[in-house]
Amino acid sequence: MLIKREFYINGAWVAPAKARDYQVINPSNEEPCAVISLGDQADTDRAVAAAKVALPAWRATPPAERARLVAAILDQYEARKQEFAEVIAMEMGAPIDFALAEQAPCLPWHTTNFLRAFEHIEWIRPLGDHAPGAAIALEPIGVVGLITPWNWPVNQIALKAIPAMLAGCTCVLKPSEEAPLDAMMFAEFCHAAGIPAGVFNLVNGDGAGVGSQLSTHSDVEMISFTGSTRAGRAISKAAAETLKRVTLELGGKGANLLFADARPDAVRWSVARMMENTGQSCNAPSRLLVERPVYDRVVAEAADLANAITVGPADQPGNHIGPVVNKRQWDQIQAYIRKGIEEGARLVAGGPDLPEGFNRGFYVRPTVFADVTPGMTIEREEIFGPVLSIIPFDSEEEAVAIANDTPYGLTNYVQTEDQTRANRLGRALVAGMVEMNGKSRGAGVFFGGVKQSGRAREGGIWGLEEFLEPKAISGYDFGS
Ligand code: NAD
Repeated sequence: MLIKREFYINGAWVAPAKARDYQVINPSNEEPCAVISLGDQADTDRAVAAAKVALPAWRATPPAERARLVAAILDQYEARKQEFAEVIAMEMGAPIDFALAEQAPCLPWHTTNFLRAFEHIEWIRPLGDHAPGAAIALEPIGVVGLITPWNWPVNQIALKAIPAMLAGCTCVLKPSEEAPLDAMMFAEFCHAAGIPAGVFNLVNGDGAGVGSQLSTHSDVEMISFTGSTRAGRAISKAAAETLKRVTLELGGKGANLLFADARPDAVRWSVARMMENTGQSCNAPSRLLVERPVYDRVVAEAADLANAITVGPADQPGNHIGPVVNKRQWDQIQAYIRKGIEEGARLVAGGPDLPEGFNRGFYVRPTVFADVTPGMTIEREEIFGPVLSIIPFDSEEEAVAIANDTPYGLTNYVQTEDQTRANRLGRALVAGMVEMNGKSRGAGVFFGGVKQSGRAREGGIWGLEEFLEPKAISGYDFGS
């Protein structure tokens, strides 16, 4: 078992102010795999103080030098990516091949995209010829608190810590207590890359502790949060007292509109995308809306595809799906599956209880419900597990109405060969992102939603701007 009780504060690993152990459980076998500490107010204060002290020098460091130091994190990643992926697999259950191919590479992917966008930032520019002497400068917002979830743990850290540091902010990261080990490795990468002491700090803890201490801290200018809508709401309220900036990436209930003219592999793509990461993605296409003429065929195909998905431990190579992260999530998913059956949806693959052959580990049967109707619990609420709901529709208007009738608005999906219709739907769906015909999002584009999915814009230039404040200066002379 790994012993990881220390926090990374002011460039050094330090003991917690008070001993409060927390066991990280390996979801593949339910065994403890690491012990960490949950921080206390004194630890949070110490980390925020270190970030505050480091701020003036870091914000004054030339942007090109900040970029050089941040880019050096990638060398650390390259040298240790196998170990990084193994840690992710162990702590949150992503199968090792998936962790290596998809989870861990989020760090170089986002960092490279941020570095590209960073080159184009105009740190100070004239307002326009109509206003001589008026300038707009961009300034780092200050000390920022970063609170991240367990499901794509490195992805979220990369989307927050990298742009924060590039922008000239100093930060305190509180990763999910369920998956803190990759975050601790990220701190090691920062250290070895030569990021100056106090620029990046890490304090482990839970939401009620370090999470709310950061959210209420008077020296923290901004909280960047990814996680549940419930916690996003709590953080917004907690942060209101100090009027800090709060950016939120929250849950989702993505609709995937599949028309009769969809490309042949659209169903396969849709099921795979839903089940990826064992359904634990905020942008999972969890509602598959199918045009009536192909509905029966799609339901049968989706059921076959789900039945063919294998489930297994995270340390086993292969393209199976792993367990869900913990017992709480497992219980919640089981409750949703039972609710789906109770409310009259037609179970066509999977179902409640452990998959056959398992008596340990938080494994869930890849599950598909057909004949789901708008308003059913499994149609409304984010399940965050490998559970697909299929809903028939008769017209494009009806499909759009069902898709948009949700409190969430993160990613919606469209499968149709009719490009005019695809374009129309790209605009009509109420969401932060629309992905059509299996085309993945462009390199350096943002990730973010609307409505109760939160309104952050993470990634690329938008993700950098979240950590910057425009400042209006008059009487500025660009010539001197
Ligand atoms: P969670 O909200 O329980 O926890 C997320 C983080 O917030 C953890 O670090 C946790 O300790 C902390 N936290 C919890 N309550 C807090 C509070 N009151 N104050 C401060 N911090 C608090 O979420 P989770 O279970 O770790 O992650 C799953 C959720 O995250 C899902 O709803 C999913 O949709 C969402 N998510 C969204 C995105 C996105 O970009 N939109 C990405 C990934 C996950």
